[in-house]
Amino acid sequence: SQEQFYRDTWVEVDLDCIKENVQHMKSRLPIDVEMMAVVKANGYGHGDVQVARTALDAGASSLAVAFLDEALALRQKGIDAPILVLGATRADHVNVAAKNNITLTVFQEEWIREIGALMEKDVTISVHLKLDTGMGRIGIRDKATLQKIEALINEDHRIQLEGVFTHFATADSLDLSYFEDQLALFKEMVEVLQTKPKIIHASNSAAALRTTNYFNGIRYGIAMYGLAPSEEIKGELPFPLKEAFSLRTTLVHVKELSPGDKVSYGGTYEAKEEEWIGTLPIGYADGWIRRLQGQEVLIDGMRVPIVGRICMDQCMIKLPKELPIGTVVTLIGRDKKEHVSIDELAERLDTINYEIPCTISSRVPRIYV
Ligand code: PLP
Repeated sequence: SQEQFYRDTWVEVDLDCIKENVQHMKSRLPIDVEMMAVVKANGYGHGDVQVARTALDAGASSLAVAFLDEALALRQKGIDAPILVLGATRADHVNVAAKNNITLTVFQEEWIREIGALMEKDVTISVHLKLDTGMGRIGIRDKATLQKIEALINEDHRIQLEGVFTHFATADSLDLSYFEDQLALFKEMVEVLQTKPKIIHASNSAAALRTTNYFNGIRYGIAMYGLAPSEEIKGELPFPLKEAFSLRTTLVHVKELSPGDKVSYGGTYEAKEEEWIGTLPIGYADGWIRRLQGQEVLIDGMRVPIVGRICMDQCMIKLPKELPIGTVVTLIGRDKKEHVSIDELAERLDTINYEIPCTISSRVPRIYV
């Protein structure tokens, strides 16, 4: 059931694409390798619970998010699959996590002592160790600390060490040498553990698509949404990815300008001749940022440019002719034979595809097809 909305702008998420992207990857994995679906940041802007349900149905066995709040939101929406919080969680939130059966990431000695002191008597918390093998973000960087943390965990029966993982910084680069170094260090550090945790995982989408270093699990994010982890490796994907995200709006106003008439703030666009201009109810507060001025959108299968400055809630496009109010305009996605891909927008904005759907704000309703 879709939430009721009255806007003429919406994101369309094709859950069948997500299902296929998961199934394709899952079918390549050995049977004992589990897939963790990464649904942080509202499922990379696609909708956390809808993506989570689809991925779990299609073969994922658990979920990963960045923050405890995201995990709790999924629990509140009825998800009971295991959820790992990949980022740092404050020690004083351990009881909330434990009560909601959320798995936390550990990488600091002091944190273990703190949760030990804070945990209520009968609760247990499941944790994964994070090793920093070269990402330089969070994680244990040396073997001595790793051993100390393992010993501290073993001293407290309420803390269950379920997993150990690392994150690659360059799995999406053509040159895999730094990746190989990280991988070797990860294996070396895991060896130091007295008891091997049940789930050892390292690969993000790029690593899982390109190598077979699956250990017991992969963390599958961007490829699940149908996007290539980088432009560099786009040409060497083992199966086609299906982009799930489209952004659409409709014409809410159509008018004919005379030569010299201007459009939007600053009057940066001036009509050269008699021309038709359409107004779209989407702007930078929707994540349709001002730098997209000049970007083409699709109407009736044709590419037309955004003209004049993008406002907070509206922007204008040049129309090939007079078109009726209510005509659908595609800002991301397909319309007949034309396609504005997320990668096209990422290139224009000099960023990565990951950032595009995440940036389309929560003011834009998501619908599922
Ligand atoms: N694992 C961690 C720790 C992450 O931060 C991310 C996302 O950035 C992922 C896995 C998923 O990566 P990707 O979306 O490239 O598959």
